[in-house]
Parts: sequence; structure tokens; C-alpha cells
Amino acid sequence: MKQPTESGGKVEKINYQKETDKVLESLCGRPGLLLHSCCGPCSSYVLEYLSRFFDIKVFYYNPNIRPEEEYKRRLENQKKLLREMHPEGVCPEPVTLPYDPAPFEEIERGLEDLPEGGERCLKCYRLRLEKTAEYAAAHGYEWFCTTLSVSPHKDAAALNRIGFETAGKYGLKYLVSDFKKRSGYLRSIRLSEQYGLYRQNYCGCTPPGGGDLPQ
Ligand code: SF4
Repeated sequence: MKQPTESGGKVEKINYQKETDKVLESLCGRPGLLLHSCCGPCSSYVLEYLSRFFDIKVFYYNPNIRPEEEYKRRLENQKKLLREMHPEGVCPEPVTLPYDPAPFEEIERGLEDLPEGGERCLKCYRLRLEKTAEYAAAHGYEWFCTTLSVSPHKDAAALNRIGFETAGKYGLKYLVSDFKKRSGYLRSIRLSEQYGLYRQNYCGCTPPGGGDLPQ
């Protein structure tokens, strides 16, 4: 995939949706894809979209979410979506790992006070993409990807850079994305309403304003 280029001192932005289109057009058959998912609402649009092209298993790995009750609530929503939406070619049971915030606590040390979008988030993206790639490589998936770029708060360029780096390390194919394009984010809101999903009001580690976490 091409990289951002400089033209007259300006960095030309990549249209990641077009890059996704190119990849999807070049696919043969329906390869297996392990889809990292942060929550049911964000995965709703991505599953609707990608299930036309891949056989998909959802990988729910989010040690950044706290408290544990919130992690479990989002997981239950993820399962509810898979059960009720059941897109063709998508496994109805996600892969889940026991709740363990320790890896996230380690990478956020010293960065706790940063706002969303800074260095802590880059490390958080990498933590989750690395684990997804590790699982995908160990279980024979050809492709992996994440739902994260559906959020307007997430940096698609950073996610894609980390995704490709991780893919190289594990010998996998990473599906480039910016799922918020083509009204992906709006579609995720509509689908969340349709399936009665809980939509959280904070990303995972810190609630808005840095106040108390939900009880
Ligand atoms: S704001 Fe979200 S992406 Fe950023 S570190 Fe916290 S949980 Fe991770």
C-alpha cells in the first residue's frame, strides 16, 4: 500500500477506504479473517460490510476497558449482536480471553493523564492488534483487522501503520481500513438501535472528563 507523500510541503492524505476497496476487489474466494472488536456497536457495521467478503471470527480482546463490569457488559452486547444479527459467514461465538487489565496497566504507566488520541492510545492500539495477530497466526487465519477505525475518535492512519507492522511480524495479511468512511459510523449507530445494543459513552480506560468510572 502506498504511504503518505509530500507535495509542495503538504502531506497528501491516503484515502484508506479506497485502499480497502482495492483489497476487496482482489480477493479470491472467502478467506478467513480474525476481526478484533472493541464492542458490539462498533462491530455491527464492520460485520455487515466485511461478511460479504470473508469468513469471520470476532476476537474480543480489550484489557483497556475498566471496570470489569463494563468489560463484561460490552462483551454481553457483542454476543447479543452476533446472536441476533448472525450475518452469513460470521461465527456466532466470539473468541474471548479472561478479563486481565495488567497488560494495559503496564503500557499506560506514566501516560495516565494524557487525553484520548495521544501516546497512550497508540500503545493501546498496538497491544490489541499484537494480541489479535498472535492469535490469528496460531490458529491459521490469513487475514486480521480491527473495528477500531469506525470511531471518529480513532486515528485510522496510526491504526493502519501499526496493523501493517504487526502483520509483517506475524506473517499475516492486515486489512487496511477507515470504517468511519461511507457513513460507517452512522450505520453503526442505526444498527445498534435496531439490535437494542448498549452504547457506552467512553472509550475504555477513562470516562469523559476523567471523572469517576461507572458503577
Ligand atoms: S482512550 Fe481508548 S484507545 Fe486510548 S488508551 Fe484509553 S482505552 Fe485505549
